[in-house]
Amino acid sequence: MPDVLALPWRKPSGLAARLMWPIAAILAAAFGLVVATVVWVSDGANRIALERQLVQVGNIIEDDLESRARQLASMTVADDAWMAKGQVQGASLLQTMAEHANGFFGFDGTHIIDRDFRVIAGAPYLGGNVADAVSLMMPVASQMYLRIEGGRPAQSRRMAAIATPRDLAFGRLAYRNGRAFIVVAAPLAPSTLVERGDWLVAVSFKELKPDVLRAISSRHDVATLHVTQRPGARQIALPVPDIQGAQRAFIAWDPFRPGDVMREKLIPVSLVVLAGAILFSGFVFLHVQRLALDVARSEERTRQLVGHDPLSGLPNRMPFAQRLDQELSRIVRGDEGLAVHFLDLDKFKDVNDTYGHAAGDELIKAVARRLSNLLRGADTLARFGGDEFAIIQTGVRQSQDVEALARRILTDLTVPFDVAGTQVQIGVSIGISLAPDNGMDREQLMRLADTALYQAKNEGRNRYCFFERQMDETLKLRKVVEDDLRNAIVNDELALFYQPQLSADGETIVGVEALIRWPHPKRGMISPVQFIPVAEERGLIIPLGEWVLRKACQDGCRWPGLRVAVNVSPIQFRQKDFVETVIRIVEETGFDPSRLELELTEGVVVDDADAAEAAMIELRANGIHLALDDFGTGYSSLIYLRRFAFDKIKIDRSFLESMEATGESAILVHSMVHLGRALGLTVTAEGVETVDQHRFLQAVGCHELQGYLFSRPVTAEEIDAKLAMRQGPGPAGAIAAA
Ligand code: C2E
Ligand code: CA
Ligand code: CA
Repeated sequence: MPDVLALPWRKPSGLAARLMWPIAAILAAAFGLVVATVVWVSDGANRIALERQLVQVGNIIEDDLESRARQLASMTVADDAWMAKGQVQGASLLQTMAEHANGFFGFDGTHIIDRDFRVIAGAPYLGGNVADAVSLMMPVASQMYLRIEGGRPAQSRRMAAIATPRDLAFGRLAYRNGRAFIVVAAPLAPSTLVERGDWLVAVSFKELKPDVLRAISSRHDVATLHVTQRPGARQIALPVPDIQGAQRAFIAWDPFRPGDVMREKLIPVSLVVLAGAILFSGFVFLHVQRLALDVARSEERTRQLVGHDPLSGLPNRMPFAQRLDQELSRIVRGDEGLAVHFLDLDKFKDVNDTYGHAAGDELIKAVARRLSNLLRGADTLARFGGDEFAIIQTGVRQSQDVEALARRILTDLTVPFDVAGTQVQIGVSIGISLAPDNGMDREQLMRLADTALYQAKNEGRNRYCFFERQMDETLKLRKVVEDDLRNAIVNDELALFYQPQLSADGETIVGVEALIRWPHPKRGMISPVQFIPVAEERGLIIPLGEWVLRKACQDGCRWPGLRVAVNVSPIQFRQKDFVETVIRIVEETGFDPSRLELELTEGVVVDDADAAEAAMIELRANGIHLALDDFGTGYSSLIYLRRFAFDKIKIDRSFLESMEATGESAILVHSMVHLGRALGLTVTAEGVETVDQHRFLQAVGCHELQGYLFSRPVTAEEIDAKLAMRQGPGPAGAIAAA
């Protein structure tokens, strides 16, 4: 199959790609925004919550310290009551109080310390380790003494009374040797001692063991507290200094982080939303892509329809021209050329008319297939519409390559086609132009192939013709004729020449044949052979014929006794009013009808014999003579000659042309003359050019002669001159009687 200029299908990536990135960017931005917002909000929530928890736990511990301090204080002010009961006294009283504080308030140890920092009562010692206990207690006791004295003037160590020792009680956290403690202190002023101006301080401590911390945290909604020297990164820690105030440990806990919860909940949600958005935009994207695809397909389809013949699927004229341009540009200096074949099916119209358009379509498709099979891949086949096809044959090295393809096409297409249930046979006419021989221009090559095709059809169809230069001339001239003839008739630009017809001895002018000429302003004298057929095709032969007849009759009036022969085209003759027109013109010009001779060809009688016969009888009835022109070239049969009332036959000049070469023609001419004479007709030979021809024709009994030997066609004035000359001094100047 040849390349039918398959147009590549273009991906509609443009629109989709243009959409994809904005969508992706919007999605990414939206998701980024959501994530950032979640992080920001959750961080904020965490921060607030952590601050709160720090304050909360700080307060809980503060409260705890305070309440323990108050408990201790409440015990120490109760000494009066204790003594009143008379249960204990002096040092034993203090000892009882300390034990009582431990037992009653759950301290690990309680000690009573005097102003000289001597432990005067207390139990039990911290884990039996006196040094430990002292190091915890002494700084607190000293702080307590400072508080007691700090509020009053120090001039007297004696204080009247301390109304509310509770207010001075305090607690603090303290760290020592890997353990954290609550240490509380309260002033102790038994009335007995106060009287002596002595002060005592009670100090209690309690280790922050896990169960203590648990008890503290259980009172509030805080995760488990513990004491550690290195709190975790995500933990909150309250500092626990050692008793000297240096930072040593922390109460730490895993805080509740609402932001984390928020994140844990929001991130899956936003992921789901993101997935939804991706899905949605994927859907939108696909939909848009499908739309774009549809648009592209229909665009493609239109392009194909524009560039392709929908019936045969072949490219049409436009892509053919494009491909021809491409192929021409490839022939630069190589030894390979190309050929353009223009094909026109013969008898396609018959198939269409007989079997219908569907059959015609079927036939076109079948032809397209057969042609495709004949071509090589690099060749191009196109359909120009109707029954016209065209081929670009590439890789042509010599004209034989082209001829071979043309012959194959001819043989292949004459094989009958199965169409509409029957077999139909068609033919094809092919016109061929070659590149670079006939040119390298696309338009020119196509025009020349068309000219050659015209020639192939004219020569009888079912053949191929290479373009030849003279064809082009013919065609150009034809164009000129088509364009200008009408005006030439209207503007009286045509000229009528006359060729004398002589008696057999060549001495006397017996008549003239009117022959039309066209002196074209640009192209010079144009022969009737070139424009009469066009005039016939275009219907111009009618006005042209009337013009000739009128002019011939007018001129003929100047030559009394001379017959004037006028050529009549079959188309003209077939006009219903032909006879009428002739008679009218004869009457108008005052010409003697018996001197008028109409030269008809066999075409006149072949088509509608009855009508022709009737017209001829009427013409003859009006005295007009009829001559059968170009005798011997057509179907001439005796029957015609007998049936139709001719007065004369004019032996075609082709017989005289070939007479010298072949003896056969001489015999033919001889018999034609005899035949004419036998039928009682005047016999005229035309195209007499040589003296030998003249002698021969005279010898065989030809009546009249016409040809260049005697005179070429000349103007009416020249005829005037010839006649005057012959009438004058010449020996045989007489004008023959009609
Ligand atoms: P035709 O009717 O056969 O005209 C004779 C042609 O032979 C004329 O050509 C004439 O010039 C030419 N001829 C005459 N003697 C010789 C000769 O010795 N040697 C050669 N080689 N040729 C000779 P022309 O004038 O070119 O006319 C050609 C044809 O055009 C005519 O052929 C005729 O069929 C047609 N024609 C001419 N004038 C008219 C016209 O007014 N009306 C019509 N319908 N056809 C015309
Ligand atoms: Ca003639
Ligand atoms: Ca003739």
